Amino acid sequence: MLTLDEARAAIRAEVTPAATTQTVPLSQAHGRFTAQELRALVDNPAFDNSAMDGYAVRAAELVAAGFALPLRGECRCGDAPGRLAAGTTMRIFTGAPMPEGADTVVIQEDVKLEGDTVIFPQTAQPGSHIRRRGEDFRQGDVLYQPGRRLSAYDLALLSAAGVAQIPVYVPARVLVVATGDELVAPGTPLRPGQIYESNRLATLLLLRELGVDAVDGGTVRDEPAALRELLKSSVNFDFVITSGGASVGDHDLVKQVFAEIGQIKFWKVKIKPGKPIAFGRVGNRTHFFALPGNPVSSLVTFKLFVEPALIAWYHGVPHLPELTATATNDFRRHPGRTELLRARLFTENGKLMATALRGQGSHMLKPFRETNGFIRVAEESAGFKQGGTVTVVPLNTDF
Ligand code: AMP
Ligand code: MG
Repeated sequence: MLTLDEARAAIRAEVTPAATTQTVPLSQAHGRFTAQELRALVDNPAFDNSAMDGYAVRAAELVAAGFALPLRGECRCGDAPGRLAAGTTMRIFTGAPMPEGADTVVIQEDVKLEGDTVIFPQTAQPGSHIRRRGEDFRQGDVLYQPGRRLSAYDLALLSAAGVAQIPVYVPARVLVVATGDELVAPGTPLRPGQIYESNRLATLLLLRELGVDAVDGGTVRDEPAALRELLKSSVNFDFVITSGGASVGDHDLVKQVFAEIGQIKFWKVKIKPGKPIAFGRVGNRTHFFALPGNPVSSLVTFKLFVEPALIAWYHGVPHLPELTATATNDFRRHPGRTELLRARLFTENGKLMATALRGQGSHMLKPFRETNGFIRVAEESAGFKQGGTVTVVPLNTDF
Protein backbone atom coordinates (compact mmCIF):
# COMPACT_ATOMS: atom_id res chain seq x y z
CA MET A 1 0.00 0.00 0.00
CA LEU A 2 1.33 3.45 -0.93
CA THR A 3 1.81 6.22 1.60
CA LEU A 4 0.12 9.58 1.11
CA ASP A 5 3.27 11.15 -0.34
CA GLU A 6 3.98 8.14 -2.57
CA ALA A 7 0.45 8.21 -3.95
CA ARG A 8 0.67 11.92 -4.67
CA ALA A 9 4.02 11.39 -6.42
CA ALA A 10 2.55 8.51 -8.45
CA ILE A 11 -0.30 10.75 -9.59
CA ARG A 12 2.06 13.49 -10.70
CA ALA A 13 4.16 10.97 -12.61
CA GLU A 14 1.13 9.43 -14.30
CA VAL A 15 -0.88 12.50 -15.32
CA THR A 16 -0.50 13.46 -18.98
CA PRO A 17 -0.51 17.27 -19.00
CA ALA A 18 -2.96 19.21 -21.17
CA ALA A 19 -1.91 19.97 -24.71
CA THR A 20 -4.76 22.13 -26.01
CA THR A 21 -4.60 25.85 -25.44
CA GLN A 22 -6.74 28.86 -26.22
CA THR A 23 -6.18 32.59 -26.00
CA VAL A 24 -8.47 34.64 -23.79
CA PRO A 25 -8.68 38.33 -22.96
CA LEU A 26 -7.43 39.40 -19.54
CA SER A 27 -10.99 39.75 -18.26
CA GLN A 28 -11.55 36.01 -18.79
CA ALA A 29 -8.21 34.79 -17.51
CA HIS A 30 -8.96 34.77 -13.78
CA GLY A 31 -8.27 31.32 -12.32
CA ARG A 32 -6.97 29.97 -15.62
CA PHE A 33 -3.55 28.34 -16.03
CA THR A 34 -1.02 30.01 -18.34
CA ALA A 35 0.06 27.96 -21.34
CA GLN A 36 3.10 30.04 -22.27
CA GLU A 37 5.78 32.18 -20.72
CA LEU A 38 4.39 35.70 -20.32
CA ARG A 39 6.70 38.69 -20.81
CA ALA A 40 6.25 42.38 -20.09
CA LEU A 41 5.54 44.47 -23.19
CA VAL A 42 6.62 47.73 -21.53
CA ASP A 43 8.77 49.07 -18.71
CA ASN A 44 7.05 49.77 -15.40
CA PRO A 45 7.14 52.57 -14.49
CA ALA A 46 7.07 53.53 -18.16
CA PHE A 47 8.97 56.79 -17.38
CA ASP A 48 10.53 58.52 -14.39
CA ASN A 49 7.65 60.10 -12.47
CA SER A 50 6.84 61.80 -9.22
CA ALA A 51 5.99 59.66 -6.19
CA MET A 52 4.34 62.60 -4.41
CA ASP A 53 2.46 65.82 -4.94
CA GLY A 54 5.04 68.61 -4.78
CA TYR A 55 7.54 70.61 -6.76
CA ALA A 56 10.08 69.45 -9.31
CA VAL A 57 13.51 71.05 -8.91
CA ARG A 58 17.18 70.71 -9.67
CA ALA A 59 18.40 69.95 -6.14
CA ALA A 60 21.65 71.90 -6.56
CA GLU A 61 19.76 75.07 -7.52
CA LEU A 62 17.97 75.34 -4.19
CA VAL A 63 21.17 76.32 -2.41
CA ALA A 64 22.33 78.54 -5.28
CA ALA A 65 18.99 80.36 -5.44
CA GLY A 66 18.79 80.91 -1.68
CA PHE A 67 15.94 78.41 -1.35
CA ALA A 68 13.41 80.46 -3.32
CA LEU A 69 12.46 79.60 -6.90
CA PRO A 70 9.84 81.10 -9.20
CA LEU A 71 6.99 78.74 -10.00
CA ARG A 72 6.75 78.05 -13.74
CA GLY A 73 4.12 75.66 -14.99
CA GLU A 74 2.79 72.38 -13.79
CA CYS A 75 3.03 68.76 -14.78
CA ARG A 76 -0.02 66.53 -14.32
CA CYS A 77 -0.67 62.84 -14.90
CA GLY A 78 -1.05 62.21 -18.59
CA ASP A 79 1.02 65.27 -19.56
CA ALA A 80 3.98 64.85 -21.84
CA PRO A 81 6.92 66.14 -19.85
CA GLY A 82 8.17 69.59 -20.83
CA ARG A 83 11.49 71.01 -19.74
CA LEU A 84 12.10 72.61 -16.37
CA ALA A 85 13.52 76.07 -17.13
CA ALA A 86 16.79 76.77 -15.33
CA GLY A 87 16.36 78.52 -12.00
CA THR A 88 12.63 77.65 -11.68
CA THR A 89 10.42 75.03 -10.09
CA MET A 90 7.39 73.29 -11.54
CA ARG A 91 4.26 72.04 -9.76
CA ILE A 92 4.07 68.26 -10.09
CA PHE A 93 1.55 65.60 -9.04
CA THR A 94 1.86 61.93 -8.10
CA GLY A 95 2.40 59.83 -11.22
CA ALA A 96 3.17 62.79 -13.49
CA PRO A 97 6.30 62.47 -15.65
CA MET A 98 9.41 64.22 -14.37
CA PRO A 99 10.11 67.29 -16.51
CA GLU A 100 13.37 67.10 -18.38
CA GLY A 101 16.17 68.69 -16.35
CA ALA A 102 14.52 68.12 -12.95
CA ASP A 103 16.25 65.62 -10.66
CA THR A 104 14.23 65.87 -7.44
CA VAL A 105 10.73 66.33 -6.08
CA VAL A 106 10.18 68.33 -2.89
CA ILE A 107 6.88 67.36 -1.28
CA GLN A 108 4.28 70.09 -0.96
CA GLU A 109 4.18 69.82 2.85
CA ASP A 110 7.84 70.96 2.94
CA VAL A 111 7.47 74.27 1.05
CA LYS A 112 5.82 77.66 1.49
CA LEU A 113 4.19 79.62 -1.29
CA GLU A 114 4.62 83.39 -1.53
CA GLY A 115 2.74 84.53 -4.61
CA ASP A 116 4.53 82.95 -7.54
CA THR A 117 7.58 82.05 -5.52
CA VAL A 118 8.14 78.75 -3.80
CA ILE A 119 10.19 78.88 -0.60
CA PHE A 120 12.15 75.75 0.30
CA PRO A 121 13.14 75.80 3.99
CA GLN A 122 15.79 73.10 3.57
CA THR A 123 18.07 71.35 1.10
CA ALA A 124 16.70 68.38 -0.84
CA GLN A 125 18.35 65.02 -1.27
CA PRO A 126 18.92 64.74 -5.06
CA GLY A 127 16.70 62.04 -6.58
CA SER A 128 14.09 62.18 -3.79
CA HIS A 129 10.48 61.11 -4.43
CA ILE A 130 11.06 59.86 -7.96
CA ARG A 131 9.82 56.48 -9.20
CA ARG A 132 12.39 55.33 -11.73
CA ARG A 133 11.57 53.97 -15.14
CA GLY A 134 11.69 50.16 -15.13
CA GLU A 135 12.32 49.78 -11.37
CA ASP A 136 9.33 47.40 -11.09
CA PHE A 137 9.97 45.45 -14.31
CA ARG A 138 11.47 45.99 -17.75
CA GLN A 139 10.08 45.32 -21.19
CA GLY A 140 10.89 41.70 -22.07
CA ASP A 141 11.13 40.50 -18.45
CA VAL A 142 9.56 37.08 -17.96
CA LEU A 143 6.66 37.60 -15.55
CA TYR A 144 5.10 34.11 -15.53
CA GLN A 145 6.08 30.60 -16.52
CA PRO A 146 3.55 28.17 -18.01
CA GLY A 147 1.29 26.46 -15.46
CA ARG A 148 0.66 29.52 -13.34
CA ARG A 149 -2.87 29.88 -12.05
CA LEU A 150 -3.73 33.55 -12.51
CA SER A 151 -5.08 35.48 -9.53
CA ALA A 152 -6.59 38.96 -9.54
CA TYR A 153 -3.17 40.26 -8.43
CA ASP A 154 -1.49 38.51 -11.36
CA LEU A 155 -3.97 40.11 -13.72
CA ALA A 156 -3.18 43.55 -12.28
CA LEU A 157 0.50 42.94 -13.05
CA LEU A 158 -0.24 41.67 -16.56
CA SER A 159 -2.48 44.67 -17.27
CA ALA A 160 0.30 47.03 -16.19
CA ALA A 161 2.67 45.08 -18.43
CA GLY A 162 0.43 45.74 -21.44
CA VAL A 163 -0.57 42.11 -21.94
CA ALA A 164 -4.09 41.96 -23.37
CA GLN A 165 -4.44 38.34 -24.48
CA ILE A 166 -3.35 35.31 -22.49
CA PRO A 167 -2.72 31.80 -23.77
CA VAL A 168 -4.24 29.37 -21.26
CA TYR A 169 -5.00 25.65 -21.20
CA VAL A 170 -8.53 24.73 -22.18
CA PRO A 171 -10.57 23.58 -19.18
CA ALA A 172 -10.24 19.90 -18.30
CA ARG A 173 -13.38 17.92 -19.13
CA VAL A 174 -14.30 15.94 -16.07
CA LEU A 175 -17.16 13.51 -15.59
CA VAL A 176 -18.49 13.13 -12.05
CA VAL A 177 -20.60 10.14 -11.05
CA ALA A 178 -22.00 8.85 -7.77
CA THR A 179 -22.53 5.11 -7.41
CA GLY A 180 -24.79 3.24 -5.04
CA ASP A 181 -28.24 1.63 -5.05
CA GLU A 182 -29.14 3.45 -1.84
CA LEU A 183 -28.66 6.98 -3.19
CA VAL A 184 -31.49 9.37 -3.99
CA ALA A 185 -31.54 13.08 -4.68
CA PRO A 186 -32.78 15.47 -2.00
CA GLY A 187 -36.34 16.49 -2.74
CA THR A 188 -37.66 12.93 -2.97
CA PRO A 189 -38.95 11.21 0.19
CA LEU A 190 -36.61 8.45 1.45
CA ARG A 191 -37.79 4.84 1.36
CA PRO A 192 -36.34 2.44 3.93
CA GLY A 193 -32.61 1.95 3.39
CA GLN A 194 -32.19 4.95 1.13
CA ILE A 195 -30.03 8.00 1.86
CA TYR A 196 -29.60 11.37 0.25
CA GLU A 197 -26.68 11.63 -2.13
CA SER A 198 -24.19 14.34 -1.17
CA ASN A 199 -20.82 13.74 -2.85
CA ARG A 200 -21.57 14.55 -6.45
CA LEU A 201 -22.64 18.17 -6.08
CA ALA A 202 -19.71 19.01 -3.78
CA THR A 203 -17.28 17.36 -6.19
CA LEU A 204 -18.72 19.24 -9.17
CA LEU A 205 -18.45 22.54 -7.30
CA LEU A 206 -14.90 21.90 -6.11
CA LEU A 207 -13.95 21.09 -9.70
CA ARG A 208 -15.54 24.28 -10.99
CA GLU A 209 -13.50 26.25 -8.45
CA LEU A 210 -10.47 24.82 -10.24
CA GLY A 211 -11.73 26.13 -13.57
CA VAL A 212 -12.78 22.71 -14.79
CA ASP A 213 -15.55 21.87 -17.25
CA ALA A 214 -17.27 19.49 -14.83
CA VAL A 215 -20.08 17.36 -16.21
CA ASP A 216 -22.72 15.82 -13.97
CA GLY A 217 -22.94 12.14 -14.83
CA GLY A 218 -25.70 11.49 -12.31
CA THR A 219 -25.98 8.43 -10.11
CA VAL A 220 -25.21 4.93 -11.35
CA ARG A 221 -26.53 1.75 -9.73
CA ASP A 222 -24.31 -0.98 -8.31
CA GLU A 223 -24.64 -3.11 -11.43
CA PRO A 224 -21.67 -4.25 -13.50
CA ALA A 225 -23.41 -3.52 -16.81
CA ALA A 226 -24.27 0.05 -15.80
CA LEU A 227 -20.75 0.67 -14.53
CA ARG A 228 -19.18 -0.78 -17.69
CA GLU A 229 -21.37 1.52 -19.75
CA LEU A 230 -20.27 4.48 -17.65
CA LEU A 231 -16.57 3.71 -17.97
CA LYS A 232 -16.81 3.17 -21.70
CA SER A 233 -18.58 6.51 -22.10
CA SER A 234 -15.84 8.26 -20.14
CA VAL A 235 -13.16 8.02 -22.84
CA ASN A 236 -13.97 11.48 -24.18
CA PHE A 237 -13.19 13.04 -20.82
CA ASP A 238 -9.83 14.00 -19.38
CA PHE A 239 -10.87 12.69 -15.98
CA VAL A 240 -13.67 10.60 -14.58
CA ILE A 241 -14.34 10.77 -10.86
CA THR A 242 -16.64 8.30 -9.17
CA SER A 243 -17.60 8.02 -5.54
CA GLY A 244 -18.54 4.79 -3.81
CA GLY A 245 -17.92 1.16 -4.61
CA ALA A 246 -14.14 1.42 -4.40
CA SER A 247 -13.81 -0.87 -1.40
CA VAL A 248 -13.81 -4.70 -1.14
CA GLY A 249 -17.49 -5.44 -0.45
CA ASP A 250 -19.49 -7.75 -2.74
CA HIS A 251 -21.27 -4.74 -4.18
CA ASP A 252 -18.19 -2.56 -4.45
CA LEU A 253 -18.02 -2.99 -8.17
CA VAL A 254 -16.43 0.23 -9.34
CA LYS A 255 -12.91 -0.89 -8.64
CA GLN A 256 -13.61 -4.31 -10.18
CA VAL A 257 -15.08 -2.94 -13.38
CA PHE A 258 -12.34 -0.36 -13.53
CA ALA A 259 -9.70 -3.10 -13.28
CA GLU A 260 -11.45 -4.95 -16.08
CA ILE A 261 -11.75 -2.02 -18.50
CA GLY A 262 -8.88 0.30 -17.53
CA GLN A 263 -5.47 0.07 -15.91
CA ILE A 264 -5.21 0.65 -12.18
CA LYS A 265 -2.08 2.52 -11.14
CA PHE A 266 -2.74 2.12 -7.44
CA TRP A 267 -5.55 1.03 -5.15
CA LYS A 268 -5.64 1.90 -1.45
CA VAL A 269 -3.48 4.47 0.27
CA LYS A 270 -2.24 4.34 3.87
CA ILE A 271 -4.46 7.21 5.00
CA LYS A 272 -7.46 7.79 7.20
CA PRO A 273 -10.06 8.64 6.04
CA GLY A 274 -10.04 7.57 2.41
CA LYS A 275 -8.01 4.37 2.31
CA PRO A 276 -10.03 2.67 -0.48
CA ILE A 277 -9.19 5.01 -3.35
CA ALA A 278 -8.19 3.82 -6.81
CA PHE A 279 -6.35 5.77 -9.48
CA GLY A 280 -5.50 4.89 -13.05
CA ARG A 281 -6.65 5.24 -16.64
CA VAL A 282 -9.30 4.24 -19.08
CA GLY A 283 -7.98 4.31 -22.65
CA ASN A 284 -5.19 6.73 -23.49
CA ARG A 285 -6.79 9.94 -22.47
CA THR A 286 -8.92 9.47 -19.39
CA HIS A 287 -7.52 9.60 -15.88
CA PHE A 288 -9.69 7.74 -13.45
CA PHE A 289 -10.32 8.32 -9.74
CA ALA A 290 -12.55 5.95 -7.82
CA LEU A 291 -13.09 7.85 -4.57
CA PRO A 292 -14.61 6.25 -1.49
CA GLY A 293 -18.32 6.76 -0.94
CA ASN A 294 -18.24 7.98 2.63
CA PRO A 295 -18.80 11.71 2.30
CA VAL A 296 -15.84 12.80 4.41
CA SER A 297 -13.51 10.34 2.68
CA SER A 298 -14.69 11.51 -0.70
CA LEU A 299 -14.06 15.19 0.08
CA VAL A 300 -10.72 14.56 1.78
CA THR A 301 -9.42 12.37 -1.05
CA PHE A 302 -10.55 15.01 -3.54
CA LYS A 303 -8.30 17.51 -1.79
CA LEU A 304 -5.37 15.10 -1.40
CA PHE A 305 -5.42 13.47 -4.85
CA VAL A 306 -7.85 14.94 -7.39
CA GLU A 307 -6.87 18.57 -6.89
CA PRO A 308 -3.13 17.94 -7.39
CA ALA A 309 -3.86 15.73 -10.41
CA LEU A 310 -5.77 18.58 -12.06
CA ILE A 311 -3.10 21.12 -11.20
CA ALA A 312 -0.48 18.80 -12.75
CA TRP A 313 -2.73 18.36 -15.80
CA TYR A 314 -2.73 22.17 -16.13
CA HIS A 315 1.12 22.11 -15.98
CA GLY A 316 1.11 23.56 -12.47
CA VAL A 317 3.10 22.39 -9.48
CA PRO A 318 0.76 20.98 -6.84
CA HIS A 319 1.71 21.21 -3.21
CA LEU A 320 -0.02 20.61 0.07
CA PRO A 321 0.58 23.66 2.27
CA GLU A 322 1.61 22.78 5.81
CA LEU A 323 1.90 24.95 8.90
CA THR A 324 2.77 24.22 12.50
CA ALA A 325 0.15 24.81 15.17
CA THR A 326 -0.44 24.18 18.87
CA ALA A 327 -3.05 21.52 19.66
CA THR A 328 -5.88 22.60 21.97
CA ASN A 329 -6.98 19.03 22.79
CA ASP A 330 -5.59 15.51 23.22
CA PHE A 331 -5.85 12.87 20.51
CA ARG A 332 -4.91 9.18 20.93
CA ARG A 333 -4.89 6.54 18.23
CA HIS A 334 -3.18 3.43 16.83
CA PRO A 335 -0.28 4.32 14.54
CA GLY A 336 -0.13 2.98 10.98
CA ARG A 337 -1.76 5.45 8.61
CA THR A 338 -1.42 9.14 7.91
CA GLU A 339 -4.55 10.62 9.40
CA LEU A 340 -6.25 13.86 8.43
CA LEU A 341 -8.37 15.14 11.28
CA ARG A 342 -10.89 17.77 10.50
CA ALA A 343 -9.84 20.78 12.52
CA ARG A 344 -10.62 24.34 13.42
CA LEU A 345 -7.55 26.54 13.00
CA PHE A 346 -7.44 29.91 14.72
CA THR A 347 -4.93 32.41 16.01
CA GLU A 348 -4.50 33.35 19.66
CA ASN A 349 -1.99 36.02 20.68
CA GLY A 350 -0.38 35.67 17.28
CA LYS A 351 0.01 31.88 17.58
CA LEU A 352 -1.69 29.38 15.30
CA MET A 353 -3.88 26.92 17.26
CA ALA A 354 -5.68 23.79 16.06
CA THR A 355 -8.68 22.04 17.58
CA ALA A 356 -9.44 18.49 16.42
CA LEU A 357 -13.21 18.65 15.95
CA ARG A 358 -15.63 16.27 17.59
CA GLY A 359 -17.12 13.68 15.25
CA GLN A 360 -14.31 12.40 13.05
CA GLY A 361 -16.39 9.56 11.59
CA SER A 362 -16.10 9.46 7.81
CA HIS A 363 -19.91 9.56 7.52
CA MET A 364 -20.26 12.72 9.63
CA LEU A 365 -20.72 15.92 7.67
CA LYS A 366 -21.69 18.41 10.38
CA PRO A 367 -18.12 19.13 11.54
CA PHE A 368 -17.45 20.60 8.08
CA ARG A 369 -19.26 23.69 9.34
CA GLU A 370 -16.25 24.46 11.55
CA THR A 371 -13.53 22.86 9.43
CA ASN A 372 -10.98 25.22 7.94
CA GLY A 373 -8.06 22.80 7.89
CA PHE A 374 -6.76 19.35 8.74
CA ILE A 375 -4.40 18.19 11.44
CA ARG A 376 -2.00 15.85 9.66
CA VAL A 377 -1.07 13.01 12.00
CA ALA A 378 2.05 11.15 10.80
CA GLU A 379 1.87 7.39 10.09
CA GLU A 380 4.00 6.41 13.07
CA SER A 381 2.35 8.84 15.49
CA ALA A 382 0.15 7.64 18.37
CA GLY A 383 -1.49 11.07 18.64
CA PHE A 384 -0.79 14.33 20.41
CA LYS A 385 -1.42 16.15 23.65
CA GLN A 386 -3.04 19.48 24.35
CA GLY A 387 -0.29 22.10 24.04
CA GLY A 388 1.76 19.87 21.74
CA THR A 389 2.91 20.85 18.26
CA VAL A 390 0.97 19.50 15.30
CA THR A 391 1.23 19.81 11.53
CA VAL A 392 -1.82 21.37 9.91
CA VAL A 393 -3.01 21.69 6.33
CA PRO A 394 -5.09 24.86 5.93
CA LEU A 395 -8.09 24.62 3.60
CA ASN A 396 -8.56 28.38 3.47
CA THR A 397 -7.17 31.44 5.22
CA ASP A 398 -10.15 31.98 7.46
CA PHE A 399 -8.25 31.70 10.75
P1 AMP B 1 -19.18 2.70 -0.52
O1 AMP B 1 -17.86 3.41 -0.71
O2 AMP B 1 -19.97 2.61 -1.76
O3 AMP B 1 -18.97 1.39 0.15
O4 AMP B 1 -20.02 3.62 0.47
C1 AMP B 1 -19.59 3.87 1.78
C2 AMP B 1 -20.64 4.65 2.53
O5 AMP B 1 -20.82 5.91 1.92
C3 AMP B 1 -21.98 4.02 2.55
O6 AMP B 1 -22.57 4.27 3.80
C4 AMP B 1 -22.73 4.71 1.45
O7 AMP B 1 -24.13 4.71 1.64
C5 AMP B 1 -22.17 6.11 1.54
N1 AMP B 1 -22.20 6.80 0.25
C6 AMP B 1 -21.76 6.30 -0.91
N2 AMP B 1 -21.89 7.19 -1.90
C7 AMP B 1 -22.45 8.30 -1.34
C8 AMP B 1 -22.83 9.55 -1.85
N3 AMP B 1 -22.66 9.86 -3.14
N4 AMP B 1 -23.38 10.44 -1.00
C9 AMP B 1 -23.53 10.13 0.30
N5 AMP B 1 -23.18 8.96 0.85
C10 AMP B 1 -22.64 8.03 0.04
MG1 MG C 1 -21.71 1.81 -2.45
